[in-house]
Amino acid sequence: MTVFSQWFLRGWMGVSSLALCAESSAQEERETIRTGKYVKLICHFKNEQTANLAFESAEAAWDETIALFSAKVEPPNTPYEVHLYRHLEQYQEAEQALTKGKFRDNMAFSHWDSISSHVVLQPPCSDETLESLGLPDLTRALLIHETAHIASYCAVAAFRELPFWLNEGFARSVERAVYEKKGWVNDFEAQPYFSQSFVRAQRMLNDSQPSFPSVQDMVDDEWPEIHWRNKYAAADVLFQFLVGGQASRKFRGFLEGVRRMGGGNSQATAEIAKLLEKSLGRSRWKSLDKDLRKFIEKQDPVWDESFRSLDAADEDEWTQIAFAKTNAYCFRNEELGERFVIQGELEFLPQARRQMNVLLGIREGGFISVAILPGAVTVFVHRYEGNDWRRVGNVNAPDYQPGVPVSFKVESFGKELVVSLDGLTVGRFNVGDRGSSGKWGLAAQAGSGGFWRSVRVKEVKE
Ligand SMILES: [Zn+2]
Repeated sequence: MTVFSQWFLRGWMGVSSLALCAESSAQEERETIRTGKYVKLICHFKNEQTANLAFESAEAAWDETIALFSAKVEPPNTPYEVHLYRHLEQYQEAEQALTKGKFRDNMAFSHWDSISSHVVLQPPCSDETLESLGLPDLTRALLIHETAHIASYCAVAAFRELPFWLNEGFARSVERAVYEKKGWVNDFEAQPYFSQSFVRAQRMLNDSQPSFPSVQDMVDDEWPEIHWRNKYAAADVLFQFLVGGQASRKFRGFLEGVRRMGGGNSQATAEIAKLLEKSLGRSRWKSLDKDLRKFIEKQDPVWDESFRSLDAADEDEWTQIAFAKTNAYCFRNEELGERFVIQGELEFLPQARRQMNVLLGIREGGFISVAILPGAVTVFVHRYEGNDWRRVGNVNAPDYQPGVPVSFKVESFGKELVVSLDGLTVGRFNVGDRGSSGKWGLAAQAGSGGFWRSVRVKEVKE
């Protein structure tokens, strides 16, 4: 996300510079700072481990962006600031001072005039959770994304005029490039944060009234009315298709051409479109639409992360943490019949609440949730229509504390589910004729979080 607000910035800097001197020593105690040649990472809380990880991500994002645009940027006298806030209120205060609430709900943004990035740690973590994670993966990806934006402010003169598909598409591609280089992910389609763009793109293509924007719309920066997350997904897949596909070399030449353009050109969108057309040697976008469609259909996203966040980069240990007021839902794109077993290990993270759920029977109309919570297991049948939650049963279970792993097993016999914890059957639940066939998934209740380990799903053939 980018911002333009010179006026506010000047006003803010003018007012706060006096106060800054008096507060500086107190502030130092509340901050952890890492300074490199280009990036100054300001962690607005005391945490060496988090600051190191955040700094590593930001620096790598800087290098990848410069390389992507084949740019050369001299180190500035004062490195550009990347701010990481501990709490939403801190972020909102900074955002208010710079952009007066325009990006209040975005939880991450970059600012043109000050060449600075601002990200709040997310999903919300207790101190103990942060200690065990170091840096939540979602925060890491956003730090890379925002640092990519400010690096482009230095590398590309026309950064203010870049059309959305290019501006957001390149920032997402820098995330991927950094993850790949650092070995932070093996398979992008198996990491929910990244696979979501393809889930959304495929859904847009397969809608009864397909809503995936045409290449023409995207290069003209004239978007149809679609959800903002879908807009990001479309930009992401278009850029990936171009930067990684057969025309990759030509496309990189195009990026170099964009970098050479002057700034402040009111015709930039049209000129960038023309440059793309020339670089790719395409005279009509229609053929590109077809190829892009094929590219999207070919992808095989493993997860559908409807609500963040599930980090599944590690094959055998997945971290799922919900935001304070929203449940985290992640659906696996794998259809199961009536007879199957889902088993693995769960360990609660020391978050505000403790409820993690195994989801099954996920279909058009709703799903079944097996909720593991303090001292109980409860099974619900959820219907999307009317947001209906029918409690099928509730049984006592041990009260598992954070840090204490519990092995779980959910066996489906169609109408009946048998739930076991640490090898002992704790309850049998009758879901009736609804049955349990469908996809499966994992969820963390709002305010909760945990590790899912070695989760295995096996269909039972009769
Ligand atoms: Zn962005």
